[in-house]
This record gives sequence, structure tokens and C-alpha cells, in this order.
Amino acid sequence: MKVLVTGGAGYIGSVTTKHLIDAGHEVVIFDSMELGHKEAIDPRASLIVGDLRNYDDILGAMQKVQPDAVMHFAAYALVGESSENPGKYFRNNDVGGVNLADAMQACGVKRIVFSSTCATYGQPEKMPILETTPQCPTNPYGQSKFIYEQMLRWYQKIHGFRPVFLRYFNACGAEGGLGEDHAIETHIIPNVLKVPLGKSPEVKIFGDDYNTPDGSCVRDYIHVSDLARAHVLALTADYSGPLNLGTGVGFSVFEIVEAARKVTGHPIPAVVSPRRAGDPDMLVADPSEAKRVLGWEAEYKNPEDIIRTAWEWHQAHPNGYAE
Ligand code: UDP
Repeated sequence: MKVLVTGGAGYIGSVTTKHLIDAGHEVVIFDSMELGHKEAIDPRASLIVGDLRNYDDILGAMQKVQPDAVMHFAAYALVGESSENPGKYFRNNDVGGVNLADAMQACGVKRIVFSSTCATYGQPEKMPILETTPQCPTNPYGQSKFIYEQMLRWYQKIHGFRPVFLRYFNACGAEGGLGEDHAIETHIIPNVLKVPLGKSPEVKIFGDDYNTPDGSCVRDYIHVSDLARAHVLALTADYSGPLNLGTGVGFSVFEIVEAARKVTGHPIPAVVSPRRAGDPDMLVADPSEAKRVLGWEAEYKNPEDIIRTAWEWHQAHPNGYAE
């Protein structure tokens, strides 16, 4: 298939582009290059630089490419920033998203695989999280993704779109030359690895008084290669609707730091710090629907295996792609 990948110069978009092309698909990347990295762009893909907030940009790209399907990664994704500047998130993730959907409709493109998130669930009471768990986002980032899922459901009803919402849990890890390089890094694994890289004296543990076995937050860490595989399967699956992408097992922040110590051989001093606003105690997926629909299951289930891939990438790219 010919696939238009928005955000294909970003972290999950670049790894998925590699998987798509390896599987025999043709990829055209649409990316503003505001946060994407040119070094992350697969040389076998072509690139159109454009901004989703500009309808003419995405309409022009859609008309030129005439893709069979769209994979939509391009978005702002910082919870904290979204809580300070919600308009930035709704404008890019939702207004930009409407432009994308309208451009698809104008060109007769009906299939879209959308990068959604467990942040659309908010803080559910029951674990693990099912696709039917009520969605009550607790920050504008999660809300913007939830709104776009709902918008796409109307395009499904009215225009016959066939959307798949892949709700990622905690994306992490690296594959080959492709890794995590964010201008502002908030995620635990890259932040832990800054210590053995000599870029930070210690890692901060945001809260040890949560309602979890060791008091730190529990998350479901899903490797970016597993996410990319799920996208390739979702592209051709006879299915529309949401799918949770996680391992089904949660690990605490303390456990992640301990796993990073084992992988790197560095003592990694950790300092318990105040809670970060808006962090739920525990987020763990029930991934059985993705298994039933796609025959997909995470291959990376052990945090040490995941962190090892990230550690190799960060050692090879101590300053990210920027070198
Ligand atoms: N966290 C932490 N120190 C950091 C970064 C994150 O203790 O330097 C915690 C964070 O409070 C959360 C967990 O690690 O409980 C995962 O956070 P991350 O930002 O990686 O992902 P999120 O679950 O927020 O999407």
C-alpha cells in the first residue's frame, strides 16, 4: 500500500516507517520538521514538509500522493505543556486533525491508523484497562487525543472512514539507529539514562507515596518496535475501533531505575522528589483485544531488555540526533 505517514520524522513515526517499508509498503512522510529529525527519516521514504494547521499544506500533499491509507503520528505530546497551554494542543492535535480528515475525504482516502494514548482514559479505578474502560482524560493532551478519536468516529459514520485508534501505553526503547530524542525530555527511561551518560547527577523519582506496592507510579512500558509491528498489522486488518497497545504488565519507577542500574552497571543515584501534577497511580493495559484482532503481542516484556536497546542508542547518540 501507499501510506502517508504524518510525523514520520518523529520517534514512533520513524520506527513505524522503517517497518512499513520493510514489509513492502511505500511511504511518503508529511512532517513540519518542528520536532522531527531529518536523520530519523528513512532514506527509502520521501518527505513532504508541511504543517497540518495549514489546510492547503495537507490537501496539497494528499492530492499529490493519493495514498491508500494514512498513519497519523504528528502531534504535540507533552502533558505538562498542555496543562499550561491547552490551545496549542487543541489547535495542532484537533484543528490540524480535522484538516487531515477533510483532506482525506477530499481525496477519497478512508483508512487511518491514529496514534492515540492511554492518557485518554485518565485515572481509571479498575486495572488492567480495557478498550471499554470509560475515557475521562485529566489533561488537555489526553483530551485532544480523545476529541480526535470522537471526531474520526463521526467521519466513520458520515463518510465511511475506517479508523483504528491505537492507544499506546508508555512507549520506550530504540531500534537500530532510531531512538528517542525530544527537545524537552520528560520521560523516565531517557531521564534515568542521562545519569550514566554523565548528563545528570541523579534521577528524580516523582513521588513515593502513591497507592502502589512500593509507592512509586506503575506504568506499562511498551517497546517502540512492538508498537511499529502493531501499526503494520492494523493497516490491513479488517477492523475499525480502539486497541490498547501495552504488555499487560506494570513496573514501578523504582523498578525501572533498578533495571537501568543492571543494564548500565552504573549506581544511578535516585532522589525521591515531590509528585508531578496529574500522574495517575497506575496505568496497565489489557492488550487481549489487540491479540484477538491483530494476532499481536508485545515481544519485549522485560524492562531490562527494553532499557538495553535505549541504552545502546543513547550511547551512540549522547547528544541525540543533533551531532
Ligand atoms: N518519572 C519520574 N522521574 C522522571 C520522569 C518520570 O519519576 O524524571 C515518573 C513519572 O512521574 C511517572 C513515570 O515516571 O510516574 C512515567 O513517566 P513518563 O513521563 O515516562 O510517562 P507518562 O506515564 O507520564 O506518560
